[in-house]
Amino acid sequence: MSTTGFVTNIQRCSTEDGPGIRTTVFFKGCPLKCLWCHNIEAIAPDPTVVWYSVKCIGDQACVRACPESALELTPDGMRIDRNLCKVCGECEEACPTGAIKVMGNLWTAGDLVQELLRDKVFFNTSNGGVTLSGGEATYQPAFAIEVASGLQKDGVHVALDTCGYCSEKVIRGILPHVDLILYDLKVMDPAKHKEYTGVSLDRVLANAHIVAKSGKPVWIRTPVIPEHTDDEQNIRSIARFIVENMPNVERYDLLAFNKMCTEKYALFDMVYPLKDADLMTQETMERLAGIAREEGVSNVAWSGMTKHLTREMKASEQEVRSCGD
Ligand code: SF4
Ligand code: SF4
Repeated sequence: MSTTGFVTNIQRCSTEDGPGIRTTVFFKGCPLKCLWCHNIEAIAPDPTVVWYSVKCIGDQACVRACPESALELTPDGMRIDRNLCKVCGECEEACPTGAIKVMGNLWTAGDLVQELLRDKVFFNTSNGGVTLSGGEATYQPAFAIEVASGLQKDGVHVALDTCGYCSEKVIRGILPHVDLILYDLKVMDPAKHKEYTGVSLDRVLANAHIVAKSGKPVWIRTPVIPEHTDDEQNIRSIARFIVENMPNVERYDLLAFNKMCTEKYALFDMVYPLKDADLMTQETMERLAGIAREEGVSNVAWSGMTKHLTREMKASEQEVRSCGD
């Protein structure tokens, strides 16, 4: 019988999660609690109900449909009593606009593979494939392995996007079934790693050595978060670790922080802890990329949202001002 697992989303036509055109599968459940987490809906391993205010027309069909009386539409929004909710999905079925949803669908590995194979023509024409992401795909290891091996049997390139925090047995078990590993190295100071992510750095580094020994291609990724991971010493330490320990790293990506998840937090009655943080500047991203290159990492790139006012723009603004003076 096919293994089952929970998936929060299947994102098609992604170009940021590996080579070519990719379909990214977001697995539910993650052992980390990063302060800057963008996929808050994926942290809990079980399905959860979410409500989108902008789509709601207020007809209360969901409230009437709920067999547990877990819903109340108030002037401040939908109140979901998560102690009463049995995640039965009746509200989602009753809602005419898609404003209320159960986040986390149960799939069999076999059905998921068939769904992903629908995009095979795009993979073949772009040298793309499927990326297992999350949450954390290794949090549902048997399910992830069955999906990855099913795809590989059909000739699909499989990438694993991982935080690196799982048991040695799990990482060794999944590596033979993936073609590329997107591996996060976020913070190299052990105390800060524990504080910002909730887990110890030791396991992440130990698994990085195992990934290195596998010889499979690796892309290292660092989320660049203001006042958390953006200091020169952190990037230098990550770059040194790569150069000294991971000869199979093909590229190093610095991913600039953004705040697009702020509204998502509201769905879970939470406030995004970094909602008031500034975006990175292009200059800082260039400087950090330069530091990684200085340390000997050969293929360094950065991407993501930055502040509009780059040095060049400021300079031209000053020129405009002085012209107008
Ligand atoms: S999932 Fe079921 S129990 Fe939960 S709020 Fe919706 S209808 Fe009620
Ligand atoms: S059924 Fe949908 S649109 Fe109607 S009140 Fe509930 S969430 Fe809003």
